[in-house]
Amino acid sequence: MTEPRIVVLGGGFAGLRFVRKYRGPGHITIIDKENHHLFQPLLYQVASAALSATDIATPIRSVFQGRKNVSVVMDEVEELRLSEREVVCSRATLSYDYLVIALGGQTSYFGNDHWATHAPGLKTLEDALTIRSRMLANFELAETSSSTDERAKLMRMVIVGAGPTGVELAGSFADLTRKIFRRNFRNIQPEHSQILLVDGSERVLMPYSPKLSHSAQAQLEKLGVEVQLDTMVTDVEENRITLQRKGSDEKETLDAGLIVWGGGVAASSITQELATPKDRAGRLEVTANLSLPNHPEVFAVGDIAQVKSKNGTAVPGVAPAALQMGQYVAEYLQKKLKSQPLPPAFSYWDKGSLATIGRSKAVAQMGKVEVSGLFAWLSWLLIHLVFLIDFRNRLMTLIQWFFQYINFRAGARIIPTDQFTSRRRDSHLPPQGE
Ligand SMILES: Cc1cc2nc3c(=O)[nH]c(=O)nc-3n(C[C@H](O)[C@H](O)[C@H](O)COP(=O)(O)OP(=O)(O)OC[C@H]3O[C@@H](n4cnc5c(N)ncnc54)[C@H](O)[C@@H]3O)c2cc1C
Repeated sequence: MTEPRIVVLGGGFAGLRFVRKYRGPGHITIIDKENHHLFQPLLYQVASAALSATDIATPIRSVFQGRKNVSVVMDEVEELRLSEREVVCSRATLSYDYLVIALGGQTSYFGNDHWATHAPGLKTLEDALTIRSRMLANFELAETSSSTDERAKLMRMVIVGAGPTGVELAGSFADLTRKIFRRNFRNIQPEHSQILLVDGSERVLMPYSPKLSHSAQAQLEKLGVEVQLDTMVTDVEENRITLQRKGSDEKETLDAGLIVWGGGVAASSITQELATPKDRAGRLEVTANLSLPNHPEVFAVGDIAQVKSKNGTAVPGVAPAALQMGQYVAEYLQKKLKSQPLPPAFSYWDKGSLATIGRSKAVAQMGKVEVSGLFAWLSWLLIHLVFLIDFRNRLMTLIQWFFQYINFRAGARIIPTDQFTSRRRDSHLPPQGE
């Protein structure tokens, strides 16, 4: 009998965990458009120049160097032909016997995709490096600017979306400007730069309890972040954003050197063309064993899957959920192909939520237990260290990373010359109110 061909789409948390845990028969091909697995929870640290790109990315090929039955393909998946059991990539079409779809999500601008150039999201390493270069170049330009008005605009950072990404990024920018930049610059006062966190909801970190949301907001404000809630974004242009408070007819236009979109998330656009049930965000509905309805040979795991927990609520798009799904399908398929009794239906174990606010503050919700401040931050650190240790060869990187993290990593603040030149060219901010 020929060996089953198992194709895994995406080397993120879910896809990687599947391949790492699967020990059944067959040959696995894992396809990703990037050559690296990315530890997305620390992306904001790269965007705020606290860590380097290499600290949070690992070549997928190196993760599986010891697994002879695993091939890694760097290519973009363009189409899924479920009835033909084929995956169309930009350079080849692959056939499969079993397919694991783990393509994750993408930033959603809620129908305003043209805002993306002026307000990058934070999903990929490229996004983080774009944000970082823009922010660093803005402070360099402000240092040599003779206009007070222009300096203020260059040092104004607007972050849209007060979910975990926006909160973590705002806190990290505050630490950088208030603690590091204030010692590095001579003509400007980076500690007075404006960091504005905007959201349409009535509180930050909506999925958390109101008590933790208020604590998070207070911790942000203590760091110097301005939080503007109940506020919608109505337009984004180059270096300019227009805001409108709920219930008000008036609009406010702000010029800002950096605008970051920490807002919505949708499933990978690949799902759009699939004739299988999806939710409004394009996430694929799955059966109890995470396979697609009418396609028992196709599984969807991680952020791309719409899974319900036992109490009927949607399983959140977080790394532990993606890891649990990848692990479940590995066990399920392995047992199926070895003709062993199959495991019971997938069930999500919620280990709680954590969001950091700067370098020594955080909020954490674990069931009924709610913690904020230093203890929550230490829990966050421990959990992320445990996640990173998932890669056996990363222990040394981890130790280095920890010391660089507590001291701030100067090397992460290098701006590539071409990016500084293009920022200088593009930074001619229009006068306020023009
Ligand atoms: C900024 C940020 C911060 C976060 N912080 C946290 C946190 O603190 N805690 C937490 O638990 N979760 C956090 N998350 C969420 C967490 O990262 C996701 O839930 C998790 O990454 C989902 O895993 P996944 O495998 O489904 O998708 P991903 O990890 O996104 O992996 C998808 C993979 O598919 C590849 N891919 C996509 N499209 C294609 C294509 N067309 N062709 C080929 N390859 C493709 C991508 O390159 C990627 O490698 C954060 C996410 C972001 C963006």
